[in-house]
This record gives sequence, C-alpha cells and structure tokens, in this order.
Amino acid sequence: MSQTAPASASSAPTTRERLFTGIQPSGASHLGNYLGAQQNYVALQDRYESIYGIVDYHALTTVHDGETLRSLTHEMVLDMLAVGLDPDRCAIVRQSDLPEHAELCWIFDTVVPVSWVERNPTYKAALAEGKENSAGLLNYPVLQAADIVIYKATVVPVGKDQDAHLELSREIVRAFNRRYGEIFPEPRAAYTDAPIVMGTDGTRKMGKSAGNTIPIFAEPDEIRRLVMSMVTDPQRIKRTDPGRPEVCNVCQLHRFFGGDYLQIQDGERTARTGCVETKQLLAERIIEFFRPMREQRLRLAADARVVEETLGAGRDKVRPILDATMAEVRAAVGIGPRREV
Ligand code: ADP
Repeated sequence: MSQTAPASASSAPTTRERLFTGIQPSGASHLGNYLGAQQNYVALQDRYESIYGIVDYHALTTVHDGETLRSLTHEMVLDMLAVGLDPDRCAIVRQSDLPEHAELCWIFDTVVPVSWVERNPTYKAALAEGKENSAGLLNYPVLQAADIVIYKATVVPVGKDQDAHLELSREIVRAFNRRYGEIFPEPRAAYTDAPIVMGTDGTRKMGKSAGNTIPIFAEPDEIRRLVMSMVTDPQRIKRTDPGRPEVCNVCQLHRFFGGDYLQIQDGERTARTGCVETKQLLAERIIEFFRPMREQRLRLAADARVVEETLGAGRDKVRPILDATMAEVRAAVGIGPRREV
C-alpha cells in the first residue's frame, strides 16, 4: 500500500511538530502582540509545521459590527504578512472559514466544568474592565483549546498573558481524553523573552480592546503622540527627581529597541536624562524598527487579491488535517452516522 504523506502546512512532506496560534482581528497589531508573540511566529515558521489563525469568532466577543469585523480581519492578514509570515512556508487561516473550530468548542463545552472557565483570571479581568459578560466571553478559552488541538498542534507561540489559557487547554485535553480516549496531544507554549507588555496607561496589559496600545503600523506621528502620552514612573514628578526604570514602561520598552538599554536605565535612575527625551528616543526607534515592515505592508495592501488568496491557500492546506481530527472526534463521541463494522 502506498504511504500518503501527512497533510502539511508547508509544501514539503514533513515530520515536524505542528504549531498553531491565533490572533484576534479586534484591532490593529500592537507592540504587545509583536514583542510577545508575532516575532516568534516569524522565527518559528520554518522550525514547525505552522498554522496561524485570524480568530474572528473570538473577536465577536468585542467587535459587534459586521463591516468593522470584516475589515479588521482583512487588515490583520496584511499585518501578519508584513511582520514576515510567508504563506508559502506556513498557513494563514481565517477561523470562520473552518467552522469545525466552533463545533469542537461545543463538544469541549460538554466536557468542561463551568467552574474551570469561571475561575479563569482573564475572564475576571475582562469583567472588571466592563466587557459584556456574554457566554462567548466565558467560553473564550474553550474555543481557544479547540483552535489549537483541532490541528493536534503541540507548540503554541503566545504571549505570557496566555499562560492560564494554555494550562486550561491542557486540562481540557486531559478531560476529553479521559472520557473518549487518547485523541489529542497536550499543547505547550513557546514564549518570546518579552514579559507581558504594559499599555500606555502603565497599569494594564497592552490590549486591543483596552484602548492603551501602540499600533506597530500606525503613522509615525501617531506613534510619537502615543509614546509621548505614556505613563512613566508616577513618583518622578520633577525632571531632577531620580527615576525607577523597573517601574517605568518607557524604560522597559527600550530593552527591545537598541543595545544601550542599561545606559538608558542608568540615565533615568540618576536623573541625567528626562522622561521626555527618553520617550522621544523610544518613539524614533520604534518607528525605525517597523519602517521596513510598514513599507512592505503598503506594497501588499496595494494588491486587492493578496488577502483572500492567502486565506484561500491557508484553508486548503489545513482542511485535510482538520477533517481527519473531526472524523476521529465525531466517531469517538458518537455524532454522525454509525461507524462501519
Ligand atoms: P489582544 O489582547 O491585543 O486582543 P490577542 O488576544 O489577539 O491580543 O493576542 C494575540 C497574541 O498577542 C497572543 O499570543 C497574546 O499572548 C499576545 N499578546 C497580546 N497582548 C500582549 C501583551 N500586552 N504582552 C505580551 N503579549 C501579548
């Protein structure tokens, strides 16, 4: 019998581990997304058989206008290409093109105790921020688990803010496997060396729905404006006051944009430099760092077909993987026609 090559998200047959991660099209890509996750997407796209989801079902928990969501999804594909993902070497997919993600989520919902999702710290934080308390928000990490394991992915490049969600994914896998047999592998995180990036307000994590982001593809003047608005060390009132770089978000971000981070820290600590000049320097460095990607994004956006072609190719690559998993799942849980004996 001839051996069929395993379905692959790259053109060559592969035995590489599989990677999946998702990003919500609920706003523009920001520094937290890039430093915490997107840079790893690019670094890992060859090492693993890589699938990147634009998770529009997830974004429905915060974006409530159809045209806006479609447009944000389009823009997020451009962001993913501009940061360096290559659709010939990975698969970029739109979650809603593969509705089995939602089907598997429902199946997991019948396995997951409500207490597991209620204790999720991200859910609690979202409620504290005043997000609509929908069943979708509560179930968010269950859909996330389905996203990952529907491809039997074992590597998940995410920011450290996703730690609790990934642990929950592993618990869901264990609970499902206990009930129905060993179908899913347990996924693990692949982190960058960035900590959770704080927002311009300095108090909450930078996040699309929090309104505290520095979008990486914003116009240079907008980046300058946002960096200048960042909250720094609240105890440094006067220019001559010594600063505390460890609590200053601007100082922390300098770590990623230039090799002189320790000197910058020292300047703040000794009040040799002021917050304004440290911010101005950061803004210029961010603009320069993302300039080539911004230019590439403009070139890509000029071709109206790029986005849908990318998504179509991604969908075609992953469909066999997902079909195989869902056939196994449906057979195990007992939905669909009786199995042949
Ligand atoms: P957002 O919170 O902005 O909506 P997503 O939920 O779409 O972002 O997350 C996309 C990726 O970016 C995830 O891997 C997430 O861990 C990462 N990420 C988002 N915000 C941050 C942050 N402030 N610091 C580090 N990583 C982040």
